[in-house]
Amino acid sequence: MSALSPTLAINEAVLRRRALGERVVHLGFGEAGLPVHSLLRESLERASGANAYGAVAGSGALRTSAAGYYTRRGLATEPEQVVVGPGSKALLFSLLMSLDGDLALPRPAWVSYEPQARLAGKQVLRLDIPAEAGGVPDPRLLGERVSLSRKRGLDPRILLLTHPDNPTGTFASPELLESVLGVARECGLHVVSDEIYAELAHAPAEFVSAATVDPDVVVTGGLSKSHALGGWRVGVLRAPANDVGRRLVQGVTSVGSEVWSCLTAPIDAAAIVAYDEPAELVEFVDSARVLHQTVSRAAFEVVAAAGLTCRPPTAAFYLYPDFAALLEPLAERGITTSVSLAEHLLDRFAVAVLPGAAFGDDTGLTVRMATSLLYGETENERWEALSAGPEAADLPRVRSALQTLGDALTALDGD
Ligand code: PLP
Repeated sequence: MSALSPTLAINEAVLRRRALGERVVHLGFGEAGLPVHSLLRESLERASGANAYGAVAGSGALRTSAAGYYTRRGLATEPEQVVVGPGSKALLFSLLMSLDGDLALPRPAWVSYEPQARLAGKQVLRLDIPAEAGGVPDPRLLGERVSLSRKRGLDPRILLLTHPDNPTGTFASPELLESVLGVARECGLHVVSDEIYAELAHAPAEFVSAATVDPDVVVTGGLSKSHALGGWRVGVLRAPANDVGRRLVQGVTSVGSEVWSCLTAPIDAAAIVAYDEPAELVEFVDSARVLHQTVSRAAFEVVAAAGLTCRPPTAAFYLYPDFAALLEPLAERGITTSVSLAEHLLDRFAVAVLPGAAFGDDTGLTVRMATSLLYGETENERWEALSAGPEAADLPRVRSALQTLGDALTALDGD
């Protein structure tokens, strides 16, 4: 493996173009695009003298605090069920190293799961998502696809869900989740639910964790999206309260002990403040949710007006439009894959998106648009967007970016 992960690669391509003075509408990178709250910043400063190695699974105080976060959401959790690490990406990889069997994965699914599975020596079975929502396989096809793959020599024993989902910006209803988890259980699949976007379901009351539906599900999360702390690298894993869960905690901790040793000590201290959920931070996440909903909704209107098929966003800051309606005009210009479509959008219109192929969706003309980097480039602009809330789509820079996007989509029909 030598290529850079596609999301990091597009970000670097955009930064290079911007350095040359080009104006690029950056819809390519799934960063939350918000500033750091002062409570977190101050706690990090206060802890900056903490320079000793810590416990591999995280400090007792942080594990207790994260357990409290899950317990407040109806998932009674003991600190021993929790492992924290430098980003959920690292925890997901350690999980894949600790679980036997091949990996069943929705198509499309977040860019890093498949490369991680391959690094862990696993094969990957892709399963199409239903029309209602992404992040889960279509339960009507799941059983048959798994048994067929077993006849062909694959050994899928893990199912990884993204709930809510990146790239589709949607989440499965409790009913859909229940049928997926029911079939997964019948098929003997161990379910991992990546719930890093759990706090960003646009209608929070409608979101139900997969572990609420099935207590055997392993959940991962973190502060990268809800608190816009991607660069701080805080990930959390919640294992079931049973023998399997205890073995997984041991497995992940053992990988961690050989790879990252512990969460950075000052970050561990600051993460406790986040997981304790003081009112100021709850308010911050609430405002962020409204902003993400407002701008992703506005971008959805643009995409829908251009005649593209797209699930209306219900979580986070993503859209996953399908350009099938423009198949002919695109084919006339030699654009027949999602990769050439994304290249064309960048080269011809300075609109950066990620091709569906990056998410394992290599047959259709789909792209993923992330709307969170439209809020602004400076800290002041980002605070302004956050306080604009439901009016954020009217900020001149957001409006102008959406206008460029709309013009590009219209021009695709005959540029
Ligand atoms: N899972 C999904 C679905 C993501 O979109 C991302 C980040 O883009 C991650 C995990 C990685 O998160 P972390 O920063 O916790 O490693």
